[in-house]
Amino acid sequence: MAKVLIIGAGGVGGVVTHKCAQLPEVFEEIVLASRTEAKCRHIASQLDRPIETAQVDADNVPELVALINRAKPDLVINVALPYQDLTIMDACLEAGVNYLDTANYEPLDTARFEYSWQWAYQDKFKQAGLMALLGSGFDPGATNVFTAYIAKHYFDEIHTLDIIDVNGGDHGYPFATNFNPEINIREVTAECRHWENGEFVTTPAMSTKQSFTCPEGVGTYNIYRMYHEELESLVKNFPGLKRAQFWMSFGESYLKHLEVLGNVGMTGIEPVDFNGQQIVPIQFLKRLLPDPASLGPRTKGRTCIGCVVTGIKDGQPKTVYLYNICDHQACYAEVQSQAISYTTGVPAMIGAKMMLEGKWLQPGVWNLEQLDPDPFMADMNKYGLPWTVIEDYQR
Ligand code: NDP
Repeated sequence: MAKVLIIGAGGVGGVVTHKCAQLPEVFEEIVLASRTEAKCRHIASQLDRPIETAQVDADNVPELVALINRAKPDLVINVALPYQDLTIMDACLEAGVNYLDTANYEPLDTARFEYSWQWAYQDKFKQAGLMALLGSGFDPGATNVFTAYIAKHYFDEIHTLDIIDVNGGDHGYPFATNFNPEINIREVTAECRHWENGEFVTTPAMSTKQSFTCPEGVGTYNIYRMYHEELESLVKNFPGLKRAQFWMSFGESYLKHLEVLGNVGMTGIEPVDFNGQQIVPIQFLKRLLPDPASLGPRTKGRTCIGCVVTGIKDGQPKTVYLYNICDHQACYAEVQSQAISYTTGVPAMIGAKMMLEGKWLQPGVWNLEQLDPDPFMADMNKYGLPWTVIEDYQR
């Protein structure tokens, strides 16, 4: 039994807290801390067991260290924003606590999406005898484990990987993002990179699309190729991959709004002077858009996220598709959140459980595909994200 400190009380933080609270045999004590403590108290009021709440500025290492030393958790679950990854890792090292997050570090001034900054902590975590688990959400997270599971159980060699993330949900707004708008828009407007024959190939953002029909009647959607951070670790850890791509579905209305907002400069990340005040356009836009945490009651439909892998088994070529389908309204009924936060928060809870139960615990900085996928996959079925595998998949 263990104590966790969860940092960040947004859409994902709410789900992680609910899911940890459902498992008192693992998560005996929970502290939820964030910049705005009222949001922590609001989440705490939805639970049927007491948790502690606290206020913290996660950009401030001494403040974090003081909180960790006061709370004495076994693990810190970082579901604040990617900007806080390094300060929280520094605080964990100083206070001697294990660390987990769901998104790689990003500096505020460049949308770079790379693991280099966090992989650079490898020796520090190893020497301290501590573990940092990076990217334990859905994508990255479950998709890394799906890839490892497919490679382990269905292939001798894997050659191509297509991660396909479809959100067939509708929240009824002309434009809103399903997770933090600033992070979402930085990701979608970044240049596309995919892995091909030993290198990343760059193409303009959203310039390649195809139609994809999801299984189980979720529907047919346009999916767009974009860069996603798990590609970097997956091609490193599966060096036999000749091609790796990430695809995400977007509706016409979302894309039209994004194009116009981009054209008028509202998605910019450089500060502009307005009446003597420095304003970052994308941060101002975030202020105007619906809070992702408020989309839960309005969102209907299902998500379908999975991995299509080709390769060789017993000398024969084959294709395997492994996916999860998640219903927005069922998520809301369970934890008062839509499926995007749910599909991120559940793997964060499971990653934490893997560490606290000792199944994955080992010093150093790790991406999920480097660890045994089997216990994680078993818990996906058990805790709300059941998956299906289609061998000999044909599109
Ligand atoms: P939200 O914006 O809804 O929540 C972020 C929370 O972090 C807010 O409570 C915010 O506080 C808090 N926060 C921000 N800055 C600080 C700070 N300096 N100190 C303390 N708290 C802070 O985001 P989401 O819940 O949608 O996303 C959370 C994380 O999950 C992000 O890193 C995102 O990239 C990641 N994610 C990962 C996915 C995956 O599949 N791997 C998918 C979706 C998201 P306040 O309320 O005061 O603003």
